[in-house]
Amino acid sequence: MKLRSKLPNTGVTIFTEMNNLAARYQAINMGQGFPDFSPDDRLIECVHEALLGPHNQYAPMGGVPALREAIADKIDNLYGRRYDPELEITVTSGATEALNSTITALIHPGDEAIVIEPAYDLYAPVIRVAGGVPRYVQMTVPTAERPQFSVNWDAVESAITPKTRIIILNFPNNPTGITIGQSDLDRVERIVNAHADILILSDEAYEHIVFDGEDHLSLAGRPSLAERSIIISSFAKTFHVTGWKIGYCCAPPHIMAEIRKVHQFTVFSVPTPLQVGLAQYLNQYANTALLSPFYQKKRDRLAKGLADTRFKSLYSAGTFFLLMDYSTLSGCSETEAARALTEHHGVTAIPVSAFYDDPESDKANHNLLRLCFAKQDPTIDATIDRLVNVETL
Ligand code: PMP
Ligand code: GLN
Repeated sequence: MKLRSKLPNTGVTIFTEMNNLAARYQAINMGQGFPDFSPDDRLIECVHEALLGPHNQYAPMGGVPALREAIADKIDNLYGRRYDPELEITVTSGATEALNSTITALIHPGDEAIVIEPAYDLYAPVIRVAGGVPRYVQMTVPTAERPQFSVNWDAVESAITPKTRIIILNFPNNPTGITIGQSDLDRVERIVNAHADILILSDEAYEHIVFDGEDHLSLAGRPSLAERSIIISSFAKTFHVTGWKIGYCCAPPHIMAEIRKVHQFTVFSVPTPLQVGLAQYLNQYANTALLSPFYQKKRDRLAKGLADTRFKSLYSAGTFFLLMDYSTLSGCSETEAARALTEHHGVTAIPVSAFYDDPESDKANHNLLRLCFAKQDPTIDATIDRLVNVETL
């Protein structure tokens, strides 16, 4: 029997591909975004206690109430909006499931969703599986004068059609490391105010990693945007637990009701002891304000080291990613450059082109590789030691 694929042009993700390559060549894996250090012992103890207590059966479908309360408190304290834990917050299996359940619930066959490239690899395939059509808008690429990607909001507005259902935003942005400013939010507000039926899906998985004294601006913080936004985040990056797969989404009740219809038949609920442990940790110990300075030191360590190589680092305003430009070493495609760096120089990075619909096209290739600096200092130093010796790719 011949199967008709829903995603005929999709293979394994770039992260899996580069992990496999890193293992094969025993390269330092600066590719997939995960920390190579442990979470806070107190978080492990909270979960351990929950495992020993009566917390090993199904959690309520929307999430353990204490965790939803803690999430509501955190968002209220940071961004000034109080989501109702009962009706407006759902705990999900990572940001991944939150994104998947949201897109599946909101996109009907033929609907369009605006995706700003470079974009996290999940959005477009999930839109397609739902029968929707991704409408791509490219960011403005970095230049010598402005060594950072930026969003062209005019292009976003021009991509809107009567079929547009959602606009997907992701700030701090993976892979570019750019953040969102007040003037961007003003612009988003004007765009959506002119289009009553459009919703915003705001992926804020890196909300607690913003550098140089800036604050993360959540869409939850602007009432007119929050009313039509689904805010998605994750504990993965915040507490160094990418393997736990716990995240959440927040949205007004009528939108959340639709998301939960999908969530309940996707996972029903997510692991109870992890939720109970996270709730206790959030209430007793967590200090998310320490995360940005922690990662800023690592960003600076990597950028300082790169200054002694032929690579040029771009400014990273948030996330735990930094882009490096290899123009002076080679003119090959980013996919080729990433392979060569792993195979011949023992460092694994992610080609930024993988975050575009067509990774081999010219518009996806700007001689840029993404490095993850969520690594112990000796790992960062060993990476620099190897990159210093690279003269060609
Ligand atoms: N969104 C973005 C932008 C991400 O980078 C990631 C993964 N790091 C996710 C969503 C998925 O998050 P999670 O691991 O919580 O599923
Ligand atoms: N978000 C991670 C990254 O960008 C990857 C997570 C995954 O492999 N699905 O590196």
